[in-house]
Amino acid sequence: MIAVTSEGQKFGGKTIKLIKNHYASMRAVLQQKAVKGTRSSRRRCRELQQRLSGKEARYQRQINHEISKAIVTRAQEIPAKIALEDLTGIREGVNQKAGKNHRRKVSGWAFYQLKEFLSYKALAAGVPLVLVDPAYTSQTCHQCGEHGIRNGKSFKCHVCGWSGDADFNGAKNIAFLGRYVDRPGGSEGLPSIKAVLSGLLKAPVFRPE
Ligand SMILES: [Zn+2]
Repeated sequence: MIAVTSEGQKFGGKTIKLIKNHYASMRAVLQQKAVKGTRSSRRRCRELQQRLSGKEARYQRQINHEISKAIVTRAQEIPAKIALEDLTGIREGVNQKAGKNHRRKVSGWAFYQLKEFLSYKALAAGVPLVLVDPAYTSQTCHQCGEHGIRNGKSFKCHVCGWSGDADFNGAKNIAFLGRYVDRPGGSEGLPSIKAVLSGLLKAPVFRPE
């Protein structure tokens, strides 16, 4: 999953995963060939690798345009502002089969790009966009504010019993924090779960929606 909204809308389903896996396996084959064979065949492999990464980048770019457009359009409809976690932007979960390093590299720029697209599309559409501190947003239960357990894609709270999609839970927390931005009397810097829970942001209660 590339992005999950606090409304439970998910972007980046099976098709993207299949295509990304396809690129990953082609990359793996080329990588093997690139270290063997003659000098010219190694060069040919490197050229193919470059062309492949260009293709993959263009594909990701198109996906990011579609996702950001859908999110901004939805925010205009509600109307709502968009809250994003600072740094990485959106939660990840890219291709598990790709090598760890490659995955990190791809998710890094892909999420950065998605955030950029969201920012300028939101600005153009007049939708406010705010950044929040992502710390603890994946470990805190959005229903009761207690510490919960994240296990891969799922989240479970042992205090109130809520369990469900971990990315959805995180998105809810980010949306919650987003409401504190631009509030009179809010703390300086980015709003964080910790600040809300410790009363720094003068939240009456960590209120479930
Ligand atoms: Zn809970």
